[in-house]
Amino acid sequence: MESVECDEINRDVLPPPELFVLRDGQGPMLYAPLGRLVARANEPAIALALAYAKDPGSFENMDADEQAVVNMFKERGFFEPRSFPHHEVGFKPAQVTLFPTNRCNLRCSYCYAYGGEGGKNGEPLVTMSADVAKRAVDLVAHNAKERADNGENVHNFLVSIHGNGEPFCAYDLIKEIIWYGRDLAEKLGIPAVFNAATNGVLSEEQLEFVVANFDSVNISFDGLPQFQDANRPQASGKGSFAMVDRTMKRLSEAKVDFGIRTTVTADMVEYMPQIVEFVADNYPGIEQLHFEPVWECGRCVKSSCSMPSSEAFIESYLASVKIADERGLRLVFSGARHDMIVDTFCKVSSGSFTVTPLGDVTACYEVSYRSDARSERFFFGHYDYELGDFVFDQKKLDELSKLNVHNIAFCNDCFCRWHCAGDCAAKVLDGISLEEHSGSVRCEINRALTLNQIQRKLDWRPKDDETV
Ligand code: SF4
Ligand code: SF4
Ligand code: SF4
Repeated sequence: MESVECDEINRDVLPPPELFVLRDGQGPMLYAPLGRLVARANEPAIALALAYAKDPGSFENMDADEQAVVNMFKERGFFEPRSFPHHEVGFKPAQVTLFPTNRCNLRCSYCYAYGGEGGKNGEPLVTMSADVAKRAVDLVAHNAKERADNGENVHNFLVSIHGNGEPFCAYDLIKEIIWYGRDLAEKLGIPAVFNAATNGVLSEEQLEFVVANFDSVNISFDGLPQFQDANRPQASGKGSFAMVDRTMKRLSEAKVDFGIRTTVTADMVEYMPQIVEFVADNYPGIEQLHFEPVWECGRCVKSSCSMPSSEAFIESYLASVKIADERGLRLVFSGARHDMIVDTFCKVSSGSFTVTPLGDVTACYEVSYRSDARSERFFFGHYDYELGDFVFDQKKLDELSKLNVHNIAFCNDCFCRWHCAGDCAAKVLDGISLEEHSGSVRCEINRALTLNQIQRKLDWRPKDDETV
């Protein structure tokens, strides 16, 4: 694995761009994340660039050769002022994620939500009321229409079906949601987009409904039959591979836009390259394969599955990237995304509008029960059954808006600051304040895999265009 040393020039003195010096086996690179710029250079050239960035007046004291080096960086935009990213302010969502039910037909050994068992504290198994779902769809559809009419960059409303259980265990409700959303889209004259995340254990009828009605689908699948059957068994204890395989083959054949999310445990980490081959062989046309190391929470705490070491995950991921490239497959890990310039890891700080089966509104997919201590931070509204409408807590929204990387001192010196943006708040801020954020074991993975993306970006460009 390449080392990720990271030097940084003084941010207090220099307005953005921030410049970082990254080093790998080939030597140093100058990296300006906000300008999406990277260049390999030798150490003296890097030193000149940093000297100039710290004090542009030093240019006058450089000789002609040194000035020529600085000019090469200058011409490529390395010293241009850049703005920091800022997230949206004001809560007017044009998208909603609905958790139709916490029931589940699987009992995955690492499920963060104890799917099918009502969360950690065994709360009742429920299905969302149709009134709640329809009002949520109403709200985002009308917001989208209003925002589009006001000339904002909003062209549709989005309804995502997800869950702290398997959403298709509430199939009748899902049908109602889709039909309601379609009618509303027609009435308002703004398109509706429907996404679903499912475990893929669907009846024939449900599968055909998905093919006919969803714009994109995400399937949770553990990559190889033996891991799927072991880690993601049905509630009856039987394996689930055969059913998920049928679902993915049908989606593939029907050319539905779908991706696979594979949760990687310590036992399966070395098989990641094989998983890439298996997926490419069996499910052609798949949009992306998402590898995520399991996070030890929920059912995982008591089951035998554990998180892979950072080193093992990085090594296996990098081996997988090569194969994925050859097979034309897009490989994804949530913490490495050098192409995104953001100040939050997810939409948590702008009040991602996610509705639980009971009608509570949470900003975080992983926090969906009132009895979860983290709900104090992430719940910011609920459906008022008497009023027949959602009520939101502006103070909570204001607090949530602080969950961004501008406020995370720990990330200040990290070159992934504007990509990873402090990582998943539910994971790194469990029981602590923002000031106490001190990263996690994921930081090593985030940095190594982001560095790899930057290296690959350099490799892909013509040398004379990028190398100083
Ligand atoms: S399918 Fe999803 S909700 Fe159900 S047990 Fe597995 S991880 Fe949990
Ligand atoms: S905070 Fe983490 S778990 Fe919650 S929605 Fe964001 S990425 Fe997902
Ligand atoms: S959470 Fe870790 S990897 Fe992410 S920006 Fe902060 S320090 Fe960097």
